[in-house]
Amino acid sequence: MEAGLARLMALISPLSRWEQVSLSAAPGRVLAEPVIARLDTPPFPRSPLDGYALRAAETVGASPGQPVRLALAGQAVPVSTGSPIPVGLDCVVKAEDTRREGGMIVLTAPLSPWQNYIFQGEDMRAGAALFPAGTRLDWTCMGALAAQGVETLSVCARPRVGVLSTGGELASPGAALPPGGIYDANGPLLAARLAVLGMEPILLPPVSDDAAAIAGCIHAAFTEMACDFLLTTGGVSVGAEDSLPQAAELLKGSVLFHGLAVRPGSPAMAFSVEARPVLSLSGNPFAALAVFEAIGRPALDVLAGQPSPQPRRIFLRLADRLPASSVRRLIRAVSVGETVTPAPGGHASGQVYSLAGCNCLIDRLPGPALPPGAPVSVLPL
Ligand code: AMP
Ligand code: MG
Repeated sequence: MEAGLARLMALISPLSRWEQVSLSAAPGRVLAEPVIARLDTPPFPRSPLDGYALRAAETVGASPGQPVRLALAGQAVPVSTGSPIPVGLDCVVKAEDTRREGGMIVLTAPLSPWQNYIFQGEDMRAGAALFPAGTRLDWTCMGALAAQGVETLSVCARPRVGVLSTGGELASPGAALPPGGIYDANGPLLAARLAVLGMEPILLPPVSDDAAAIAGCIHAAFTEMACDFLLTTGGVSVGAEDSLPQAAELLKGSVLFHGLAVRPGSPAMAFSVEARPVLSLSGNPFAALAVFEAIGRPALDVLAGQPSPQPRRIFLRLADRLPASSVRRLIRAVSVGETVTPAPGGHASGQVYSLAGCNCLIDRLPGPALPPGAPVSVLPL
């Protein structure tokens, strides 16, 4: 699988298109240039609480027996949470820790310099590199960007990713199912996944198992639809109706790989048509999704300007025993904290219902049964 990924990766470089988006449209987008702090935040020294700003040196020795009195305005300035601390004052006493006596406040304990004092630039310093180019912004970045007064950002264009389901049995939603027909599950599944990953999915109508028709659709996807990358499903194995290899030939495509040592999805193939990449996945919905995650997603991340040459993986512990396997398998699963459990439903590659609610794939290498608690490699979804 890694060799196939490497061959596909060799073809991929980040898109050079970029655009300006408003801050509210930025979550999910990849920065085309770094964000540098343009101002100190907070922009002035400020108080973290309601009380009085003063000079710590004037409170030395304060105690219940020897209270210190400071003149309001002259020596102690009333401040509320977030208000500026006047220049020359170096700490803030909580209102509750003082007593008013006419124009004075009375303190019964000393303060130290910079106590209850928020420094200018304590959060972000003007000139600091906040987010490098290639960062995929998410909502957690929004507070910092907004606090900097950022209105617009330069982000990489979203890759336009065509999704073409092939198979004479496929019907689109809304159409009546003829005998032997099934609804196209892969198109909507992959399009939804692409949207979540920050891509621009272009869902093409399903096409029958006809090499020339498929070749026509692939050509149109790259020309009329200006796709940067194309996913196809179905028709990649060795059956009489498996027309993808022939379509690739008709397009004079060069095959990057055909066949992966993983289940499900082993018949997958990738080829390029005039340097534009096509990843052809098998038709069974879970097979298509699993190989997309392992091979397609890292390639699209690079295209999107967010380099990640390998699928992101983590190591988690099995909640239950995993039976022996003579082949490498991608297993739909649910992780909670440090543990991972295969989805409770059916695991056949044609079964798609049990994918609902999964949040990861276990990448299980061939080997003997694994006991509960064994660490396994996991691709988060
Ligand atoms: P194939 O890879 O074309 O041999 O298809 C393998 C299995 O997946 C067959 O049972 C197909 O009917 C089914 N299949 C192919 N494409 C889709 C699709 N877009 N949605 C749901 N099932 C599909
Ligand atoms: Mg088929």
